Amino acid sequence: RPKKSFGQHFLHERRYIERIVSAISPRPDDFLVEIGPGEGALTFPLLAAAGKLTAIELDTDLIPNLQANAEGIGELSIVHADVLKVDFTALAERQGVARLRIAGNLPYYISSPILFHCVEHAAAIGDMHFMLQKEVVDRMAAEPGSKVYGRLSVMLQLACRVEPLFNVPPGAFRPPPKVDSAVVRLIPLAPEARHDADPDRVHQIVKAAFAQRRKTLGNALRQHLDADAIRRADIDPKARAETLSPEDFVRLAKIEIAP
Ligand code: SAM
Repeated sequence: RPKKSFGQHFLHERRYIERIVSAISPRPDDFLVEIGPGEGALTFPLLAAAGKLTAIELDTDLIPNLQANAEGIGELSIVHADVLKVDFTALAERQGVARLRIAGNLPYYISSPILFHCVEHAAAIGDMHFMLQKEVVDRMAAEPGSKVYGRLSVMLQLACRVEPLFNVPPGAFRPPPKVDSAVVRLIPLAPEARHDADPDRVHQIVKAAFAQRRKTLGNALRQHLDADAIRRADIDPKARAETLSPEDFVRLAKIEIAP
């Protein structure tokens, strides 16, 4: 029976399983990684299409069945681990592949940490297809000025192209989650399209700016940049974080401050 503490909501509606697999369109030479295979709703169709797949599952109890049911379908390699501890860059190197393709119906209780973890390894990832709470997908894809535009929007959009694909109702899962879900595709930006600011500094600025989103930037960033420094990035210190584009945050992060 599904365990709540592991965020287990197993997909059972064939229609949605097929839509996800066809959005991914696995090819035989892909190196596919699935986060949280559960009972294998996505694992087996993906395995059938790609021939091999690496699945990362934290719940030991699910592993014997996954392994047994993969027999005759393809080469399933199961990593028993917390996905947040899996070094995707090292995994790609070990396997001798340039880029991993990552997919998963994610455990919602750690969806943001998983997204940030993947962003850290974006250079080793070709694309990602994730099932998430619809509300999280809305935040990831939000544009400046939107009510739900925030830290997640900026951090994700600075690393990836974010493409919301389709919504999935609670009834498609067993047990049904309390919220609507959505599938999103993330495509890490090419190296030449990525920003060249210090990632930790960007994160620090974005976090501070949205921690007090009702305040002006001048106030919210007081610990990090003074009004003059903000002006040097071509930004009005009276503006609010939610009106800034992701690129504006990069400019703020690159402003040198006097020692
Ligand atoms: N893919 C299956 C499906 O669609 O039916 C299961 C999805 S279920 C929402 C999330 C899965 O992630 C569960 O199998 C759960 O045990 C696993 N999981 C939870 N926390 C995890 C973690 N930290 N690392 C890896 N897997 C985890």
